[in-house]
Amino acid sequence: MRYVSTRGQAPAVGFADAVLSGLAPDGGLYVPEAWPSLTREQIADFAGKPYAEVAAAVIGAFAGDEISSDDMAEMCREAYATFSHAAVVPLVQLGPDTHLAELFHGPSLAFKDVAMQILARLYDHLLGAQNRTQTILCATSGDTGGAAVEAFRGRRNVKIVALFPEGRISEVQRRFMTTAEEDNVACVAVSGTFDDCQAIVKQAFQDRSLRQAVDLSGVNSINFARIAAQAVYYFTTAVALGAPHRPVSFCVPSGNFGDAFAGYVALRMGLPIARIVAATNSNDILARAFESGRYVRGAVQPTISPAMDIQSASNFERLYFETVNREPVETARAFQAFADAGALDLPPAAHAQMRETFRGVTIGEDETARTILSTLNETGELIDPHTAVGVAALRHVEVPGPIVVLSTAHAAKFPDDVAKACGVTPALPRGVASLADRRETFDRLPAEADTIKAYVRAFAEA
Ligand SMILES: *Cc1c(COP(=O)(O)O)cnc(C)c1O
Repeated sequence: MRYVSTRGQAPAVGFADAVLSGLAPDGGLYVPEAWPSLTREQIADFAGKPYAEVAAAVIGAFAGDEISSDDMAEMCREAYATFSHAAVVPLVQLGPDTHLAELFHGPSLAFKDVAMQILARLYDHLLGAQNRTQTILCATSGDTGGAAVEAFRGRRNVKIVALFPEGRISEVQRRFMTTAEEDNVACVAVSGTFDDCQAIVKQAFQDRSLRQAVDLSGVNSINFARIAAQAVYYFTTAVALGAPHRPVSFCVPSGNFGDAFAGYVALRMGLPIARIVAATNSNDILARAFESGRYVRGAVQPTISPAMDIQSASNFERLYFETVNREPVETARAFQAFADAGALDLPPAAHAQMRETFRGVTIGEDETARTILSTLNETGELIDPHTAVGVAALRHVEVPGPIVVLSTAHAAKFPDDVAKACGVTPALPRGVASLADRRETFDRLPAEADTIKAYVRAFAEA
């Protein structure tokens, strides 16, 4: 399996290089040269199989012959054994034809764990085979850092530095990063904003002398292995509800469009999906694009679903590439124009093709809070604000059932906003109840690129 860049100016690479480098050197995103496909029989056969087995089949289709099926099966078994629910991603029924897929039973209680747990094992395996060590540098506004630290702590061939804006993330989010005891983990509280942290990461990646000294890598949601890992639960949930014999629809709380795009990947692999609804908060660049045909950046507004406070949905470039018939010159032109002007008009044929599958819905803050309350009253389920955006979206769009709403975080990750919405303070699950008592270790640094680059270098070389 070879991977090409959406912008066409970088050589095709294998699975290992696509995973370990993340972004393609021409600024594009890697996609497989051709979508692997599964037969109806193969998909029907997933019914009743353990999650890890389906994961090995789906992710294995993307790794090709670069990872043996035994190694892939073993990594998937280990990755999904860290989840506290035996089904890994259980379904909960909300109404006659509506279900929640709970993606939050991993170690850091957010859906990022589903991909990050297998990604960390893939890194260790692929780097070990090349006798190589990488240092992952990541800036987090909350959930990604915790999921990454949980997944990469103790890995032999990888070190990780997580930067977070001091005082601007929740205590639960911070503790998922800062209580890891393994010495391949370093956490830094930066006296600045998330944007400062992200700008510093960008500068570090552009610093040639640092990159000569340190083999740097990133694990943000443009990494194709994360997309492949997220396609898995579309298969397991759809098959549980009758696919491939009947099509299933999905409603996905969306920010960077990695999760919803993974549904499109499952569709291209042969899973009958009727509709995918991208549900956004008021940072609704994606929802507007699907509804109006214009992809236009706005100013980021803070909301109670902060993991979706994004105004440039990186993975949208992959869908664009597909719907302009994989024309890399056109894709490069369009996303350069978007970078320069913050706006992009979708070609009518591409927009029409997107609408064969996608719909977009925007949900405001009041409706999000009201949906937490009404869902609790009507079903007894306590949902988090991100999931509430997805549940609320179903009231605004016609989709053929059965419908699965992806539940992307445990309510206990956002206890204050959930309590404010419905009067019930969600408790942490038993497995992480001791989080508040664990010892925290982190360093504090000013928001200065040179200081942080020196810190990363010293940590990588230690
Ligand atoms: C990251 C995240 C999302 C958004 O997912 P994308 O793949 O960026 O669209 C939604 N909900 C939660 C809780 C998240 O952590």
